[in-house]
Amino acid sequence: MAEHKVVILGTGPAGLTAAIYAARANLSPIVVEGNEPGGQLTLTTEIENFPGFSNGILGSDLMDNMRKQAERFGATFRDGWATSVDLSHRPFSITLNEVETLSADALIISTGASAKMLSIPGESEMIGHGVSTCATCDGFFFTKKRVIVVGGGDSAMEEATFLTKFASELTIVHRRDTLRASKVMQERARNNPKIQWALDMTPIAVKSENNHVTGLEVRDNKTGQTRIIETDGLFVSIGHSPNTNFLNGQVATDKVGYIVTNYRNSATNIEGVFACGDVMDSHYRQAVTAAGSGCRAAMDVEKYLEGAFVHDWSMSLT
Ligand code: NAP
Repeated sequence: MAEHKVVILGTGPAGLTAAIYAARANLSPIVVEGNEPGGQLTLTTEIENFPGFSNGILGSDLMDNMRKQAERFGATFRDGWATSVDLSHRPFSITLNEVETLSADALIISTGASAKMLSIPGESEMIGHGVSTCATCDGFFFTKKRVIVVGGGDSAMEEATFLTKFASELTIVHRRDTLRASKVMQERARNNPKIQWALDMTPIAVKSENNHVTGLEVRDNKTGQTRIIETDGLFVSIGHSPNTNFLNGQVATDKVGYIVTNYRNSATNIEGVFACGDVMDSHYRQAVTAAGSGCRAAMDVEKYLEGAFVHDWSMSLT
């Protein structure tokens, strides 16, 4: 089994930026694509807030460019995703697709978080065509349009409040008649005159015509009756799941499953294992913040492999 200096798991902006930096540091990183190559940005269309692209750039193009940039400096990409790891000894063992094992002196985990979806008919085929999971990324495209936000947590309140800057009409659809969101976030949304409420409604289907979203079919939980709320856009805001199951508890996470790093660098509780991007950041979740954290992780790995990295887990935020 070939031993690699560094293996990077995931190819979102964090993993690819880590790959660019690690490759330029002559660490010949092996980058494992993951089960959503390119990460969440490939699920959206135009990215208008990634610095350096004054006319915006397609999410898939941005990720292609980052990947080519990493390859240019010597990063090697591997299909598949990590199904398990053994971090109890060094070099670490990383098993891909339950069959092949890689060996690495250092590991960068950038496996991201996946937005939870409603899993109702019509939803998956309209992602990027009216169905979105990111108001910051896609809100602008709904200027003067009707929008629905699904969810009753803080994210849904925050996304809905943000989207009222653009949308002509906005309805929050939530499956219960009470919200999960904190009082302050609820009040902010409730005091926003642009927000209408469809509580105690279960989403059952996304309606579309000619590749445009036209409505959300919901069932009134009290009466059992169904109706269609017309809309041009649907923002699904029902939470994210960090992709950390494959770690099987070997790396410290918070109660939701996000990896906890040292607050001053990208170190995890295990010496030689670093984390970056949405898998350790449930708050900012932006392409640019993920890319920045990927840079930090690669610089930390470089120091670690030189024997110059001071591992101090006491500085974590746990
Ligand atoms: P969350 O608190 O888990 O809320 C998810 C919401 O989506 C819940 O209302 C849930 O309904 C609903 N939901 C889940 N699955 C659903 C389904 N299949 N169909 C319909 N609805 C579904 O997630 P979050 O809002 O993303 O927040 C995550 C964490 O980040 C929280 O701790 C939150 O406080 C924090 N956060 C903080 C801020 C802030 O302070 N600025 C902003 C965003 C997030 P039920 O209520 O019925 O379960």
